[in-house]
Amino acid sequence: MSDTPPRAKRFPLSLQQLGSTPKPGAAVAREPLKPQGHWQQAAALKARTTPPSGLGLDSAGVRQRMVQRLRMEGLTDERVLNALATVPRHEFVDTALAIQAYEDTSLPIGHGQTISKPSVVGRMIALMLAAPGAQARGDLGRVLEIGTGCGYQAALLMQVARQVVSVERLKPLHDKARGHLTGYSRVRLVWGDGMLGHAPSAPYDSIISAAGGDDIPQAWLDQLAPGGRLVAPMTAPSGRGQVLVLIDHVRDAQGSRFVRSLHEAVLFVPLKSGVM
Ligand code: SAH
Repeated sequence: MSDTPPRAKRFPLSLQQLGSTPKPGAAVAREPLKPQGHWQQAAALKARTTPPSGLGLDSAGVRQRMVQRLRMEGLTDERVLNALATVPRHEFVDTALAIQAYEDTSLPIGHGQTISKPSVVGRMIALMLAAPGAQARGDLGRVLEIGTGCGYQAALLMQVARQVVSVERLKPLHDKARGHLTGYSRVRLVWGDGMLGHAPSAPYDSIISAAGGDDIPQAWLDQLAPGGRLVAPMTAPSGRGQVLVLIDHVRDAQGSRFVRSLHEAVLFVPLKSGVM
């Protein structure tokens, strides 16, 4: 038996040919068009890539699994893990990338910039929390962040700080972050050149940069409070690649000085001067 309906007169169409109900006895095409097919495929793909809880991306469960993976990989500070479990990273990236938001990868946020890997953001915040000053206080105190980007790291910092001032040089990203961070009342977003720090709110107990230059700008050291710690990527001494730099502002009987240590290799976007 053929699946093809009997050939109908094409023009002009009769009202019956336009109607959706086939005439009794008429053969019906067995393969209807499926304009929703792509959606079904996308849903099937999502079902395969989303962890099998069925909770969906906006659930705490998916984040919790990311946190468990990071914990197994050596991130042990409970306050950092708690912050990572709290902030919905998928809400800070474009909808098309939301499915990847809880993988440990950096993701594009537009304008040639990227949001860092959760493990790296977590590691930097943990390094700051381990500073003697932060340990004594129990949190990061007043924080200066250079490179707001999409605002994700600022939201994490808020979980472990008293106040966050975050500077971004690209106006479209500054505006985007403002949209993402409505409701975070203790974050102050500044559109400006972060290489100059942000003197009006200085000094800071903690300074963190999400962009790396050849050296640490003097303004950051000037604005780091005694007992404070700075963590930033910087060009490696070899001149190739970047490393994490940690600087403590020590003040003791011998006076005030900056103690610098170099840590693991990292990959961050470049620190650039001026605003756009
Ligand atoms: N913390 C961000 C990461 C953004 S990537 C997040 O969670 O999304 C680093 C950002 O640093 C970029 O947005 C880049 O525009 C910004 N940047 C680079 N140089 C800067 C400077 N001198 N002042 C302020 N922001 C700067």
